Amino acid sequence: MNLADKINKQLPAELVNFLVTAGGMAQTCGDGLYLVGGVVRDLLLGRQNLDLDLVVEGDTKSLAEGLASFLSGKLIAHPRFGTAKLKWDGWSVDIATARTETYARPGALPSVKAGTLQSDLFRRDFTINAMAIELNAPRYGELIDRYGGLADLDGRLVRILHERSFVDDATRMWRAVRYEQRLGFKVEPRTLELLKQGIGMLDTISGDRIRHELERVLQEDFPEKALRRAAELGILAKTHPSLKGDKWLAERFARTREFTAPEAPSIALYVALLAYRLTPEEVERLLCYLRFPNTVTFILEDVANIKTELEILVERNLPPSGIYALLDDYRPTALQAVMLATDVPLARERIEEFLHKLRHVKPALTGADLAKMGISGGHIKETLNSLRNARLDGTIRSKEEEVRWVEENS
Ligand code: ATP
Repeated sequence: MNLADKINKQLPAELVNFLVTAGGMAQTCGDGLYLVGGVVRDLLLGRQNLDLDLVVEGDTKSLAEGLASFLSGKLIAHPRFGTAKLKWDGWSVDIATARTETYARPGALPSVKAGTLQSDLFRRDFTINAMAIELNAPRYGELIDRYGGLADLDGRLVRILHERSFVDDATRMWRAVRYEQRLGFKVEPRTLELLKQGIGMLDTISGDRIRHELERVLQEDFPEKALRRAAELGILAKTHPSLKGDKWLAERFARTREFTAPEAPSIALYVALLAYRLTPEEVERLLCYLRFPNTVTFILEDVANIKTELEILVERNLPPSGIYALLDDYRPTALQAVMLATDVPLARERIEEFLHKLRHVKPALTGADLAKMGISGGHIKETLNSLRNARLDGTIRSKEEEVRWVEENS
C-alpha cells in the first residue's frame, strides 16, 4: 500500500517537502529512512498529527546534519541515545537510529543497541504503533506493516506485539487504556488477558515512569475515560489503592473543562481533582511515589489545607474580609480545584467570589501615600490590610474615606 497521497493530503506542504527531501538525501547517502509510530497510525486513521518520528538504518548523525544544513535548521543531538531533534522555521521532527531493546529484568529501562527497522518496530508497544512508511526515493510512501497493524486498525484493536510485552514494561498497560479510550478501540482479548494476569508487574515500575504515563493520560481530551478504564482493570489502584476513576471524577473533569475553556485544564488541576478524595496521609504517599514537580505538590498540599477550612468558610455570617483571610494564603489552582470538587454550594460560591472579586480588592492609598501621611514603616502593612478589609466589607468606599480612616485611627 502506498500512502504518498495521504501524506500529501493530511500533512502541511512544509512537512511533505521535508519528507521528500529527507528521503532523497537518505537514498543518496545509502541510509534507510522511515516515518514511524503514532503519525503512521494517524495518517491511516485520518487523524491530525504533526509529530513526525523518523527512524534511520544507517548514519543518523550525518543524515541529520545534512538535513539541518539544507534547511538552515537547528539540530539538538543526543549521540548517546542515537537521537536528534531537528528544528527549522517553527517545525520540529525527531530522528533516531533504528534500535533493538532488551530488558535485563521486568520494569527496568531497556538496554539499547543499534538495530534494523524490523527490530525497532518489534520493541514498540502495540501493532497499531508498529507500522512504518518508507521515505527513500524509489519506494517513497510504501507502508511497512510487519505485525498486522493495519488489520488491527480496521478491527479497532489495541494488541501487544508479543506475550512478554507487559512483563518487559508494564507502563504499556497505561498506554493500552489511553489508546483504547482515545481512539474508541478495544484492547484485544488475548492482550486483555495478559494485562489482567500481569497487573502485579506495575509494582516493578518506578513512580517517575508511572507519573509520565499518568501525565500523558491527563493531556488527553477526555482523561476520565482512560481513568475509568484503568480503574476497572485495576491499573489505577496500583498507583494508589484509594484512587477512583468513577462518575464523580468524570463530572468534575467535565466541569473543569467548562471552567478553563477555551484552554485545556492544567495537569496540576486534574491531579488535584483526582487526589481530592484521598486523606492527607494518602496524598503524602501518592506524592512520595509519583514525585510530581513542586508546583503540583504545593497545590495538593494547599487543597488538603483548604479542605480543613471548609467548615468555617460556610459559616453564615462570615464577612468578605473573613473569606479573604481564610483563602488568601492558597494558590489559585488549589482554590479552583476545591471549588470544582466540593458538593457544598456555599463553599463553591464563596471560593468563586474570592477568586473573581475579593482577591483583587486593594485600597486606593499605597504604602508611599501612608508614609507621606506620617505612618511609620512598621505599621504600613497592617494599615493597608485594615483598609483592604474595610473595602472588602464595604465600610470604606472611596479614597477620601480611606484618608479619613487613617487620620482617625493613627
Ligand atoms: P501518541 O500518543 O499520539 O501515540 P506519540 O506517537 O508521540 O504520541 P510516544 O509516547 O511519544 O507517542 O511514543 C512514540 C512511539 O514510541 C509510540 O508510537 C510507541 O510505538 C513507542 N513507545 C513509546 N513508549 C513505549 C513503551 N513503553 N513501550 C514500547 N513502545 C513505546
